[in-house]
Amino acid sequence: MNTAEFTATRRSIGFHEAAHAVVAALLGQKILWTEIHPDGYAETVPDTNIFLRLDEPFQSRRTMLIAMAGSAAQCRCMDRDIQWSPEGGNDKRLVEEIAETAGLSPDDFSTVNAILSKDDVWEIVSRLADALVTCERLEGQDLTDRLPDCDPVLCKTVGVFPLPPRSASVGLHCDFP
Ligand SMILES: [Zn+2]
Repeated sequence: MNTAEFTATRRSIGFHEAAHAVVAALLGQKILWTEIHPDGYAETVPDTNIFLRLDEPFQSRRTMLIAMAGSAAQCRCMDRDIQWSPEGGNDKRLVEEIAETAGLSPDDFSTVNAILSKDDVWEIVSRLADALVTCERLEGQDLTDRLPDCDPVLCKTVGVFPLPPRSASVGLHCDFP
């Protein structure tokens, strides 16, 4: 791979990870960190709440759209038809597992593409992708500051319930004698 190809690949992986994080934020799923390594390894890690169950249709739909956003953004940034990218293999396997519960087709990118094609959303994805290529890893406030707020209207439109604030879902109080 020459330098230009390497740069283009890193940029497209930056878009891939940034889109996972941005769509997660819009759908109310907190992200702990997102990173891309020089060797090509990349990941975006959601804050998995123990009360979220993938067998619930709304959580499966949220997870599906977040998973599909990576490949969709990669194709968009390269001006290609929206489909699963080679780097989206794990995302695709996850989506195929939960598609039935979610009630969505694992190859139908229309919903996630509609989300990403909004100018303000794509602008945020682009800026986060650039930041990721430069910083390699973003987390905490540095990441939160670059992400959009949860969009309750979008959540409703795609059939996903916004998550309660973190503080409302922790603090299980067990009284042992
Ligand atoms: Zn991915």
